[in-house]
Amino acid sequence: MERRNAWKGYSDEDSAEVERLASDYIEFISTCKTERECATRAIEMAEAAGYVDMSAARAAGRKLQPGAKVYASNYGKSLILFHMGTDPLEHGFNILGAHIDSPRLDIKQNPLYEADGFALLDTHYYGGIKKYQWVALPLAIHGVVAKKDGSVVRVNVGEDPSDPVFCVTDLLPHLGADQMDKKGSKVIEGEALDVLAGSRPLVDEADDKTSDDAKAKAGESVKAMLLSLLQDKYGFDDEEDFLSSELEVVPAGPARSCGFDESMVLGYGQDDRVCAYTSLAAQLQVDCPARSAVCVLVDKEEIGSVGATGMTSLFFENTMAEIMDMAGLGGDLPLRRALAASNMLSSDVSAAFDPTYAAAYEPKNSAYCGRGIVFNKFTGARGKSGSNDANAEYVAKIRSIMDADNVAFQTAELGKVDQGGGGTIAYILAKYGMNVIDCGVAVLSMHAPWEVTSKADIYETRKGYSAFLHRA
Ligand code: MN
Ligand code: MN
Repeated sequence: MERRNAWKGYSDEDSAEVERLASDYIEFISTCKTERECATRAIEMAEAAGYVDMSAARAAGRKLQPGAKVYASNYGKSLILFHMGTDPLEHGFNILGAHIDSPRLDIKQNPLYEADGFALLDTHYYGGIKKYQWVALPLAIHGVVAKKDGSVVRVNVGEDPSDPVFCVTDLLPHLGADQMDKKGSKVIEGEALDVLAGSRPLVDEADDKTSDDAKAKAGESVKAMLLSLLQDKYGFDDEEDFLSSELEVVPAGPARSCGFDESMVLGYGQDDRVCAYTSLAAQLQVDCPARSAVCVLVDKEEIGSVGATGMTSLFFENTMAEIMDMAGLGGDLPLRRALAASNMLSSDVSAAFDPTYAAAYEPKNSAYCGRGIVFNKFTGARGKSGSNDANAEYVAKIRSIMDADNVAFQTAELGKVDQGGGGTIAYILAKYGMNVIDCGVAVLSMHAPWEVTSKADIYETRKGYSAFLHRA
């Protein structure tokens, strides 16, 4: 049951569409590298498509009617978009859910120190990374510094060509004998992922008459220089502002087309922004749906969907309750009926078969770049532990929807049985009793600083999400 390579069926018009979507997507992931940046951009795109803030609509006493488009933002890090359809709400929604957080290095709360003439920032990695991949490459710092007065300063250093970048150093091979004998997880350890942030000392003009205070800071002149720069250029009041900052260290620079034929995308954070972007694009394009269309973009998936902005928070349920109420269907029971009758695609990436590491995959049940949107009936580890195992009847329905709209699709599981595994947000929504299946784009080098996807798969996934919103 080998699936066809989607490129083989493309007309010139299709190829132009593939490239147009890919170039919009490349721009999106090049600028939106954090959950906050993705949520902010998604809100701008939604407002341009006629969506209004749900709380503003509620405050204005607006009753939701078919065709209404509202969004709800959760701390600026997760987002729900709702487009009301013509069917009764209790018949359920068609939901696309993707995550907008990606593996990275987070700056610690007390990060700054000076050692041997360098200023360094200590980090704590976020999500499942191979630590050795994050050394000796250009890095950018994106995030916010929240001040005691309630103001929030946005930080974005390392993306503009005129910006400086950062890096984590590695040991030269000439002296790497002991390091190279270590196992992969120990070659670079978590506490060694310190970001090189400066090396120029603050010059004390009155060196002879150095004050006691200055003497106490001897050996910290590079740190002092850095702090004065943070104050002058980056809006810090003092070092303590790090305590209430969220600064994310990510690979610097834009995503690019990959390969001589430009058929692929190399970029940071494609897990899961490739599914977030295509879900959002499908949601914004949907036209007068029968069933209400919902797009959920969440944070914290990479660390277990925890916290107020993760999928396990009640934000989703509360928002849907508000929406039902604004449509004249308040109360618990209509909400529960609607959620149980809903269909969902858990829009998340799949592991693409990599011929260089073929031994980790089972070829018949692997996802291949270029063969379209990937459906994972189940994910999980060992005996499907932690998985949402979609119902066969639901898989059949999805197959017929994809075929009806000529969407190239394939089915897969995550590598060989017993080789490892992973999970998504699917099981969390399945708790309401709705039908959920995992599906999305196949990714090579998943969770690496630069991940690879196929432009054909991005296109087929957007088509698949649209087909789902219109037909499920
Ligand atoms: Mn993911
Ligand atoms: Mn992931």
